[in-house]
Amino acid sequence: MNNKRSLILILDMLAGHWAEGSESPVTRLPYPNVKGYEKAGLLPNFGDSIKNGIYVNVWNMGNCNTPYGQKYLASGTYQTDSAPGIDPYWSMVRGLDKETILQACKRTYPGGKVASFGSDAWMQTGWWKGVECTMGWGSYYSDFLTSQNAFHWMMGNPDWSTVLLYLAQYDMTGNCPVYTEGAEYTKDKHHSLLQLDRYLWMVKTFLKEQGWWDDTYLFIGSDHGCHVGCNVAVEEGRERGVAEADLANYCSNHQSPYDCYIWDFEKNQATDKRSDCCRRTTFIVTGGALPREQYGRVVGNAEIIDFAPTIADAMGVDFKTDGKSILGR
Ligand SMILES: [Zn+2]
Ligand SMILES: [Zn+2]
Repeated sequence: MNNKRSLILILDMLAGHWAEGSESPVTRLPYPNVKGYEKAGLLPNFGDSIKNGIYVNVWNMGNCNTPYGQKYLASGTYQTDSAPGIDPYWSMVRGLDKETILQACKRTYPGGKVASFGSDAWMQTGWWKGVECTMGWGSYYSDFLTSQNAFHWMMGNPDWSTVLLYLAQYDMTGNCPVYTEGAEYTKDKHHSLLQLDRYLWMVKTFLKEQGWWDDTYLFIGSDHGCHVGCNVAVEEGRERGVAEADLANYCSNHQSPYDCYIWDFEKNQATDKRSDCCRRTTFIVTGGALPREQYGRVVGNAEIIDFAPTIADAMGVDFKTDGKSILGR
């Protein structure tokens, strides 16, 4: 019997770290990313999670798009038997070829409920499908309402053991300015990131108010980052007709190639320093269940496939994977 619970919070497109020396000329900050913004004092709730948790410098070394990124997070492997080219969005229709961490939690603790909630509908098709309940609302449904629906279900099912909360709205800031004065959430990357910090506050406050914090692990992860201030962002911006003067303040999406180079806007050319924007994902472990001696740890180098095995390790779940738990590293 396990008396620990897991809340898995997936924030789409959230870069966790950024290349040294790559900074936005508009904000005078590194381009939006968790570690850089936290250092600048802009993300108090991520900061609290890093201080009272484990921060992992993590990379997606596979395909940096949403369906593949989610698959790596949920399965702990880059390789599954899926035929290349098959759209992983439709994995459930075709059948999963690898057990997911949610399924493994249910197999190990059949008495604990497993559910998932997301502000986009694709998650219903497989890699994050819950067992007792799966709710995915279409087309960037409100992150706020998605969270409220998850909270409501948890209050009605206090015997929950694993809940997945996937928030997609940050991914709307795919082709947009990095910073616009007074922009609303979803209109630029800067304000969207500040909003994610408030959602993190909401999740943590909810767990604490319900008295669940002390026996819950909170795993925060993301599937990919995005191109900003690199050769790919500049080339894409030009192709889309973004004015030359605005290219330094333009985030393109997270298309391939994922290996890219920091752009020098003064010389108007690529440098030879790797940026690799899309590969810079997020991974933080916090929550009251995390042993105190783990607080404040920093893991210098890990991969996205280490996310699921870390959950398995924390929860005492036997799980076949190519990744490794970061708890003992
Ligand atoms: Zn994504
Ligand atoms: Zn890039």
